Amino acid sequence: MNLSDEQQAIRDVVREFAVEEIRPTAEECDADQTFPEEVWDGLADLDMTSLTVPEEYGGLDVDRLTYSIVNEEVAYGQLAVATALSVHSLATSCIAEFGDEDQKERWLPDMAEGRPVGAFALSEPQAGSNPAEMTTEAKREGDEYVINGKKQWITNGHRAGVVVLFAKTDRDDPRSVTQFVVPKDADGLEVGKKEDKLGLRASDTTTLVFEDVRIPAENRLTEEGRGLSAAFHILNGGRIGIASQSVGLAQSALDEAVAYAQDREQFDQPLSEIQTIRHKLADMQTQVQAARLLTRDAARRDDEGENVEMAASMAKYFASEAAVDVANEAVQIHGGYGYTTDFDVERLYRDSKILPIYEGTSEIQKKVIARNVLE
Ligand SMILES: Cc1cc2nc3c(=O)[nH]c(=O)nc-3n(C[C@H](O)[C@H](O)[C@H](O)COP(=O)(O)OP(=O)(O)OC[C@H]3O[C@@H](n4cnc5c(N)ncnc54)[C@H](O)[C@@H]3O)c2cc1C
Repeated sequence: MNLSDEQQAIRDVVREFAVEEIRPTAEECDADQTFPEEVWDGLADLDMTSLTVPEEYGGLDVDRLTYSIVNEEVAYGQLAVATALSVHSLATSCIAEFGDEDQKERWLPDMAEGRPVGAFALSEPQAGSNPAEMTTEAKREGDEYVINGKKQWITNGHRAGVVVLFAKTDRDDPRSVTQFVVPKDADGLEVGKKEDKLGLRASDTTTLVFEDVRIPAENRLTEEGRGLSAAFHILNGGRIGIASQSVGLAQSALDEAVAYAQDREQFDQPLSEIQTIRHKLADMQTQVQAARLLTRDAARRDDEGENVEMAASMAKYFASEAAVDVANEAVQIHGGYGYTTDFDVERLYRDSKILPIYEGTSEIQKKVIARNVLE
């Protein structure tokens, strides 16, 4: 799929930053479970923290295809950074799409510059695939809402200064889910447990605990009861972002495998001369390119104003599973060395497993695809 000159230019800039600035931090950040804040500031300097912010609030407001390309390239550098960026972009998207003038002016210009970082708090301990089962409640009291509950798996949980929160205005009414903006320093809002994860270890994933957190009613983003449809609408774009990250990670694993296969010799020849290894590389290349095309097709349809529920789910499902397969084969091509932290493929393999899980598991994407097919 052809990119415009502008899209190609953005791709080149972000690829260079990914290779020179993001990738070199990956090993240490993974080992220490720390996020590379200097990389975040570098992305902000490139305006990448403003992708989904309208121009009048200081943003780039890029089309979905450009958003996809940026996500792919950042993930080529390090998935944890791409995850943080895409969640920040979900938060700015919610404010840009559903906020009123005052709300946009209050939060977007600073978020466009990278600080405060945004979080998107939908999931709960008992409500993952089915967010309608959430129990966090925001009860109206005069000019305020009082929030009680617990959110789980929140990316940027520590780092964020602004949380886009989904809560029920009536705990017993599943149709009452509503969207709010909550400053992270609000009284009663505590960051809970930081998850110790298989991969994506540089990304901070935490619980957020709300105990009688009072926010002014003007922090409500949507009308009461409109929160879930808003979340699903925003997540269509989010899923194209995760599909793009999957392509970036898979490309990175493939490139590592190609380089290793050309370098490593067994039976007096490079691995790359052995037919079995060549077939693996052929399969990996085909998977990466198929995933990229499906992802960019979904992005292009979104840019043309189509309903992309099914296209986004197909891209997310296919690309995330492809990323796991490609990372797995990249480890296999590295043999025993691929099973050690001396080679990047070990981290890519661990990181890849999150892709078919977050922002809707593969099983949920198939549910969405099947529903659309049958309609
Ligand atoms: C590292 C990480 C970062 C995350 N970041 C965020 C974030 O920033 N914000 C946020 O809100 N959430 C975030 N999440 C949450 C993530 O989106 C959920 O984990 C995901 O939606 C799955 O929910 P669950 O973990 O509760 O699994 P469950 O819903 O309990 O699912 C368990 C299994 O059952 C399957 N299953 C469930 N229902 C069905 C069904 N109807 N049909 C078929 N299969 C089904 C699932 O596919 C899965 O295999 C993050 C998660 C992780 C691990």
